[in-house]
Amino acid sequence: MSNVVGLSGGIGSGKTTVARMLEKLGAVIIDADAIVHELQAQGQPLVDEIAAAFGPEVLDAKGALDRVALGDIVFRDAEARQRLDQLVHPRVGAEMLRRLAEAREANLPVIVLDIPLLFEGRKAGAGAAAGMDFRTTILVWVPRRLQIERQIRRDGYGRAEAKRRLSSQMPLDEKRALADHVIDNSGSLEETERQVQQLYASLTSD
Ligand code: ATP
Repeated sequence: MSNVVGLSGGIGSGKTTVARMLEKLGAVIIDADAIVHELQAQGQPLVDEIAAAFGPEVLDAKGALDRVALGDIVFRDAEARQRLDQLVHPRVGAEMLRRLAEAREANLPVIVLDIPLLFEGRKAGAGAAAGMDFRTTILVWVPRRLQIERQIRRDGYGRAEAKRRLSSQMPLDEKRALADHVIDNSGSLEETERQVQQLYASLTSD
């Protein structure tokens, strides 16, 4: 039987990096963010729904979703973020469940549901994680200081912008208490890889 695990982190903590390592070891990754991107591709019904809710300024000249414009709105306004979540989460959740059923059918040993707001969703009893019963949760953790530094380096944000984006999420120290396994990604990539290998071995041995 497949071992289904939920993987999460925080902005810039290294969730994508760890997901790639797990994939290399043989896990199947079902990536909520990638599904959001697919569902928000030009011409998808979700794009029209978002434009109807937030106005034409969230579309570019060609009618595709302008993620930066939308991000600017929802990172500043918690109520707007909630409205966007209500449009996006049910569709993403349904697509994840479809892919999960497919992966289970194929009897793959480890299936990783990569969900940015896994812990927030679980706490609220809703969100993209609704209806998915994973046995185990994994958190990719770094100290807040590194979340800020890695965002600045990766995305070119100023320090104030990087901090503001972090303030919209549950702190990683809080998520840590909710996770079954914590990958500490504050060291080198090699150190992270060692932890991931150990974890993968334990996931395939139960
Ligand atoms: P987000 O959710 O914001 O997209 P994420 O959690 O998926 O972020 P990554 O994109 O994997 O995070 O990592 C954030 C940045 O930090 C990337 O530029 C990545 O290359 C870098 N990074 C990840 N792990 C390490 C590490 N152990 N040492 C140095 N840099 C790292």
